Amino acid sequence: MKEQKAKILIIEDEKKISALIRKGLEEEKYSVDDAFDGEKGELLALKQQHDLIILDIMLPKKDGIQVLSSLRTSNIETPVLMLTAKGTVEDRVKGLDTGADDYLVKPFAITELLARVRSLLRRKKGAEKSATTLTIADLAVDLVSRKVLRDGKVIDLTTKEFSLLEFFIRNKNKTLNRSTITEHIWNYNFDTGTNIIDVYINHLRTKIDGDFEKKLLHTIRGVGYVMKDH
Ligand code: CA
Repeated sequence: MKEQKAKILIIEDEKKISALIRKGLEEEKYSVDDAFDGEKGELLALKQQHDLIILDIMLPKKDGIQVLSSLRTSNIETPVLMLTAKGTVEDRVKGLDTGADDYLVKPFAITELLARVRSLLRRKKGAEKSATTLTIADLAVDLVSRKVLRDGKVIDLTTKEFSLLEFFIRNKNKTLNRSTITEHIWNYNFDTGTNIIDVYINHLRTKIDGDFEKKLLHTIRGVGYVMKDH
């Protein structure tokens, strides 16, 4: 299977620099979102999942430190590469203290930026392997406490529903057929024609998607189910 390319958010008000970064990232086949002020950037970071955020400190409406601080408060742990103007050591320290993962001083070479991006994405991948929380969109599943949150709201699941959700979220964006799901959850095959899996999935769907506009669990007619956020 082809690896999905990382999605990167650029929050930078200087259009020229933003365009330059975008071009560099797109040449490396990353997918790119951009925002030109702090408020818009924060909103985008909250609404959508990114693998990395490139965040300028000096921004209109809300500066980079404020943006980063409210993202970390909202439990958005996306790696952040901060851009700082030359000579502002204090900004750099503040940025790292607030939870930035790395910083780059302007002006920088695009090759340097790309190297930092690769390194942060590699680190993120390593961290994900040992992560105890699985997420998709605004849904988070804590495998240790077995707590499920959607948009900050606690969702109570039965043991079977939890196992189903964990299986779906571990295989997000992959269509799973009924027998694969059944074998995984119950460790044996039901007679074909049984709809017990559909019943369980409907229960799960009501709980995790019922009250929310954005649906995560989708039926693929005649095939099975997929959990995805787009
Ligand atoms: Ca700026």
